[in-house]
Amino acid sequence: MKILCVNAGSSSLKFALYEMPECEKKADGTFEKIGLMGSFYTITKDEEKIVKQVSLPTHKEAVEILLEELVNLNIVSDINEIEGIGHRIVHGGDKYSASCIVDDKVLNDIKDLSELAPLHNPAHYVAIKCVMDMLPNVKNVVVFDTAYHQTMDEASYLYAVPYEWYEKYKIRKYGFHGTSHKYIANRVSEILDNKNLKIISCHLGNGASITAIKDGKCIDTSMGFTPAAGLVMGSRSGDIDVSFIPYLMNKTGYDINQVASDLNKKSGILGISGVSSDFRDIVNGRADGNEKCALAMEMFARRVIMYISYYNTLLGGADVICFAGGIGEKSVEARELIMEKLYPLGITFNNEKNLIRGEEVEISGSTSKIKCYVVPTNEELMIVKDTYNLIH
Ligand code: ADP
Repeated sequence: MKILCVNAGSSSLKFALYEMPECEKKADGTFEKIGLMGSFYTITKDEEKIVKQVSLPTHKEAVEILLEELVNLNIVSDINEIEGIGHRIVHGGDKYSASCIVDDKVLNDIKDLSELAPLHNPAHYVAIKCVMDMLPNVKNVVVFDTAYHQTMDEASYLYAVPYEWYEKYKIRKYGFHGTSHKYIANRVSEILDNKNLKIISCHLGNGASITAIKDGKCIDTSMGFTPAAGLVMGSRSGDIDVSFIPYLMNKTGYDINQVASDLNKKSGILGISGVSSDFRDIVNGRADGNEKCALAMEMFARRVIMYISYYNTLLGGADVICFAGGIGEKSVEARELIMEKLYPLGITFNNEKNLIRGEEVEISGSTSKIKCYVVPTNEELMIVKDTYNLIH
């Protein structure tokens, strides 16, 4: 049975096609810089990789090109060979604690929850609607990023605000990237052959979060009620002092929607650098002497070490720190900046190993008190397994 996984991120759409139950990957690829200049896609099949520059104004064009290319490249002989599609969904609110098959209610819930994840849920909705239109007989399954974080206790998931805001309005930390953090925790346990580890999992992509994990369970995580909390991200601010919001509104006349939109879409490394939300552009800008790009990278790294330091204490001393996501897996410069700041935790750094991009590798030195690994995440495989289990 062929299962397609669709992971529509804020500025990218990743896919993987698997033969199940063998878990054999037939093809995968990424559509990148969606809605930005210089968009392109890559598709890999049998270790042969094609790269094409193409205009991708929205996720709809990415889905259309993907389904065409699967046939054109003989990855499937007929598009109807695909029997199930699993979609990664960022926000399930308090409605979803497990994966499920898509029906009209689920689709509407995903759309309604867009106010909690304005960069992601609209992209998921477009991607699901598009495949439902093009492949009406295929079963669609949704896998929520919020599910893994349900093991947090009240002290971690509550905000120190009137308790009734939680009781009446469910205002609490939900956490995101759960499928990725779960994969990373499982993979590290396999690498070190130990299920009882204290892990700090750093998923650093356009959206970024850090999770403290003990014995395979989430203890705390940096994203919150929405994915806007925690780290400095591509275009999201991360943690801020909310009291500057009324001050800003008084000064500018902005309404609350404008402020919320700017905190999600015009902040982060984009807001500081004024150059781009894409980390590659910031790295290149810094190399060319752009001081704002250097500042954005420094702010990004400082927020990362703030969470690593806190979670190291919360866990009573971490055994492992892992880096994943586009930046965590591939940005040598970001890892260098972060790792060199972590020496007070007894962490040493292997410069040579750190030059490796996109592969599983230990980047800590032999004397490091905490082992540090790059663990390329595989949300797709976890999503495909859930999809197969629900539809076959
Ligand atoms: P999302 O899924 O949230 O859109 P990704 O995990 O795909 O994000 O990560 C995208 C980020 O990874 C972008 O900021 C991009 O610039 C960065 N990235 C990808 N490849 C590299 C690289 N070789 N060097 C530095 N950053 C990279």
